[in-house]
Amino acid sequence: MTVPQITLNDGHTIPQLGFGVFQIDPPETERIVTDALEIGYRHIDTAAAYGNEEGVGRALAASGIPRDQLFVTTKLWNAEQGAETTRPALERSLAKLGLDHVDLYLIHWPRPDLDRYVATWRVFEQLQGEGLTRSIGVSNFHRPHLQRLVDETGAVPAVNQIELHPAFAQHELRAFGEGLGIRTEAWGPLGQGKYDLFGDPAIVRAAQAHGVTPAQVVIRWHLQQGVILFPKSVSRERMAANFDVFGFELTDAETAAIDGLDRGLRVGADPDTATF
Ligand code: NDP
Repeated sequence: MTVPQITLNDGHTIPQLGFGVFQIDPPETERIVTDALEIGYRHIDTAAAYGNEEGVGRALAASGIPRDQLFVTTKLWNAEQGAETTRPALERSLAKLGLDHVDLYLIHWPRPDLDRYVATWRVFEQLQGEGLTRSIGVSNFHRPHLQRLVDETGAVPAVNQIELHPAFAQHELRAFGEGLGIRTEAWGPLGQGKYDLFGDPAIVRAAQAHGVTPAQVVIRWHLQQGVILFPKSVSRERMAANFDVFGFELTDAETAAIDGLDRGLRVGADPDTATF
């Protein structure tokens, strides 16, 4: 099973399909990430805010997989944004992960009310220059946040990690970012189980046609658009199924039917107004 590699605007590559660990209990994380690595996942998406970087790090160390075959993302929590606080936050994440660098470091939310993401980004560039992270990017940035970053720093983030699933397809934001050379990462790619995505007739029909599960259809829908994703599951069986998505292809008609499910249904926080 070969996961496609996507080349980012800084020349580094990222496995298009990975494993996300949001809401995985810290005591369970080592075992669950070990399962994911055994299944074949090589891209792990965590964050300081998830509280489980240590478990991720233990699983990576125990796996014996060479560092250059792993892709690890973590994220700077909102309270740590700023010229003085960003570097220590990454150093703490690296210590917990047991790594000397991550592959991708993200500003977790723009928090426009704090007005610190531009200053934070300048530190991100230094950290990248020093090799503490290979690539740098953002998460939950809307168009004005991206535009301001580009205008004030001249830099273009490697990725924007945004809420993205069939009922919230984010066409405009994606097109804007991708026009600048920013790759889109989907969070909540399965809608976080918060609406009946897997029972939708468009998904069920495609699943039956290909003899696969609804979740596998949704993952293919993301992959075929060039989106990077990392569905989360605590179940070894479901994480294996989520990784077994390279043996079929959705037709244009099936893709169009799933595209038709977009109804602007946000299941998470709105980046313009979030204050956590
Ligand atoms: P997902 O859309 O990946 O959904 C996860 C849910 O789907 C869980 O309830 C899981 O249950 C269930 N599930 C997984 N696989 C299957 C399957 N094959 N069949 C049925 N149900 C399934 O949501 P996430 O929020 O976890 O998003 C993925 C990742 O994105 C996160 O883990 C995190 O890394 C990142 N993220 C980033 C955010 C940001 O602000 N940047 C915000 C939120 C997430 P079970 O575990 O029981 O299988």
